[in-house]
Amino acid sequence: MTVKRPLFFILLLFFSVEVRAHQMAHVHGRAHMSIAVIDNVLEVEFASPAENLVGFEHTPHTAKEKQALEATKHQLASGENLIRFNGANCRLEDARITVPQSEGDHAGLYASYRFHCDNLASIKSISVPLFASFSGIEVIEVQWLTSSAQGAETLTPQSNELQLQ
Ligand SMILES: [Zn+2]
Repeated sequence: MTVKRPLFFILLLFFSVEVRAHQMAHVHGRAHMSIAVIDNVLEVEFASPAENLVGFEHTPHTAKEKQALEATKHQLASGENLIRFNGANCRLEDARITVPQSEGDHAGLYASYRFHCDNLASIKSISVPLFASFSGIEVIEVQWLTSSAQGAETLTPQSNELQLQ
């Protein structure tokens, strides 16, 4: 068994954001993020009530609503609107945006990202500029995990930087 195998299982537990999002209280204004660093790869999962991002939570009916949802998906897919790395050079390798279709329910949006970084060991902090794009998000609860440490932090528009130490 390699050293990485236990970490892999930890990540599986850690990364059921979508599952946890269903268990978490759906509170407008709040979003959740998980960040995991393993070797040179950084995985991010993001979950938010749709209301925070597009201003509604039903299946889009009008052209305007469809347009708003597409614009939001496009914004989230860039990755740069979500997260920035200070002290490390990271490239977005994969982004998946999931929009649950539900009628009359409090629906959420989920996004997952994989970044590949050149020098993750030297990363100083991670900033989350998402607040600037989505004024409906007031608070992001972040959980993070590296091979040597883990923690949780609450980010706000006034304090959107995360120290991974
Ligand atoms: Zn809702």
